[in-house]
Amino acid sequence: MIIRLILLFAIVAILLWLIKRLFAEDPYPREIEHHTKTKSENMRQCKFCGVHVPETSIVLVGDNPYCSQDHADRDK
Ligand SMILES: [Zn+2]
Repeated sequence: MIIRLILLFAIVAILLWLIKRLFAEDPYPREIEHHTKTKSENMRQCKFCGVHVPETSIVLVGDNPYCSQDHADRDK
């Protein structure tokens, strides 16, 4: 009887471990990879409104980054 209980406990433990692996370990690396990929782009803060904008779509006036040409003009 005790051996059966231990076996049952072991099976439950393995199942729980497998479920944990499936739900916790597998989806997260992809999620983290996705996040690091999207965050690999440098974000700059607009000098006028403080909004964070990807460096590729920023309007630079001298050394000052702006989210749009409108804000670059308004900060003068
Ligand atoms: Zn702005």
